[in-house]
Amino acid sequence: MAEKNWETLKVQYCHHVDKEVGLEAEMVFPADILPDQPPRILAHRCSHGLACNLDGRPSCIWAGTNPAYDPFISKE
Ligand code: SF4
Repeated sequence: MAEKNWETLKVQYCHHVDKEVGLEAEMVFPADILPDQPPRILAHRCSHGLACNLDGRPSCIWAGTNPAYDPFISKE
C-alpha cells in the first residue's frame, strides 16, 4: 500500500515570524510491489503557514496572503 508523508525539504530563517521554518512537501511513496517508481509530490506548505494566515498581516505565498513573495526563493 502506498504511504503518504510530509517531508521537510528546506529549513530557513523567516523575518516575518523571526524564527526558522520549514518548506514541506506531501510525498506519496509507492507500494512495495512497485519498487522502481520514485515518490510523487502532491503539495507544498510552510510549517508555519496556517499561523501566518491567521495573524492579520500580509506575509507570503505560503500563507496565502501575498502571492508575489516567496521567502524560500528570496536572495536575501
Ligand atoms: S508562511 Fe511565509 S511568512 Fe509565514 S513563516 Fe512561512 S515563509 Fe514565513
